[in-house]
Amino acid sequence: MSNEPRRAGRHFLQIPGPTPVPERVLSAMSRQMLDHRGLEFQKLGKRVLQGVKGLFKTAHHVIIYPSSGTGAWEAALTNTLSPGDKVLMCETGQFAVLWAGMAQKLGLVPDVLPTDWRVAADGNTFEAKLRADKAHEIKAICVVHNETSTGCRSRIDEIRKALDAANHPALLMVDTISSLACTDLRHDEWGIDVTVSGSQKGMMLPPGLSFTAISDKALAASKTAKLKRSYFSWDDMLANNANGFFPYTPATGLLYGLAEAIDMINEEGLENVFTRHERLAEATRRAVRAWGLEIQCRDPKFYSPAVTTVIMPEGHNADAYRKIVLDNFNMSLGTGLNKIAGKAFRIGHLGDTNELTVMGALTGVEMGFELAGVPYKKGGVQAAMSYLAETARTRELVAAE
Ligand SMILES: *Cc1c(COP(=O)(O)O)cnc(C)c1O
Repeated sequence: MSNEPRRAGRHFLQIPGPTPVPERVLSAMSRQMLDHRGLEFQKLGKRVLQGVKGLFKTAHHVIIYPSSGTGAWEAALTNTLSPGDKVLMCETGQFAVLWAGMAQKLGLVPDVLPTDWRVAADGNTFEAKLRADKAHEIKAICVVHNETSTGCRSRIDEIRKALDAANHPALLMVDTISSLACTDLRHDEWGIDVTVSGSQKGMMLPPGLSFTAISDKALAASKTAKLKRSYFSWDDMLANNANGFFPYTPATGLLYGLAEAIDMINEEGLENVFTRHERLAEATRRAVRAWGLEIQCRDPKFYSPAVTTVIMPEGHNADAYRKIVLDNFNMSLGTGLNKIAGKAFRIGHLGDTNELTVMGALTGVEMGFELAGVPYKKGGVQAAMSYLAETARTRELVAAE
């Protein structure tokens, strides 16, 4: 038993993943183990392998690995590329840095376009590089859709247009680990070749599953790609998946949770899930502005519906402030990563989140400023409340299919 006194009520986990898991998903996972080569599992396997396709808006294969999102990054690169291949990336923030670092370790040659970490990637980001690459040495573009460190969302549709305008054959790979089931994502329509995602953010599941949606072009590339791969090899996985099975022991408990989470998202309606995220994000940004603080994302075009990164006033440490919030109000806020460590904190508003969750979080943030002696203007919570009240029930609900 711990010496810490019990803290009443629930912990507010307002980091941008892992996110709180709904009761329905927790209950669905509370099951006895089963034979993963048997008929009962086969039904579950087929159900989830089919069900996830809707979330990616794809008719093609989606692989489900028992791994964190990072595993799916590795799968995307090793199944499609060969040693020495050039990959074009954009340093939107810490997750782009990590993916580029992985590419380098695997023997690829990442060409990373810089940003100031306050914008995401759009059509213009890559176009000049693509047009200049007449010899087609660039084999893939890797983009983080929602950069979880900065709260900036890239324009994947525009990046597709840039590839087409430059008539460039590079594969388009997109990390949607913190954007799947938070914001629109059209694997087929946007011509994405590999979409990578994970379970513990918008999907409302515990960590431990990753997803990889694969285009026919990526599948064809995997036939000649020479990077070494075994556990993450697509061919064994796809051969087994055809019958609802896996080449090795799948994370059966998490798959029960996944089936339930997919049902919940479909019951709400995927488009309604996106609208909910946009609205809660806007309420959060209104609070930040009313406090007189700066949002890390400086171009509204790139605002993230999943997470808001807030810049601390000069001379105030974000982690010291986060500790005060945790100690006093039992709420975890996201830390600033890499070059914005100590300078910014993050408010996650993704997954199974509603108006009052966000209002509770914003109230804790505002009270924390007072306790920590952070200079701020009162009224952020009020600004968010006003916006949520004004927009309550007035939006047209897209009929759930
Ligand atoms: C969380 C996250 C990752 C890392 O995923 P893990 O599941 O921790 O391996 C990668 N990219 C983005 C955009 C993320 O938000």
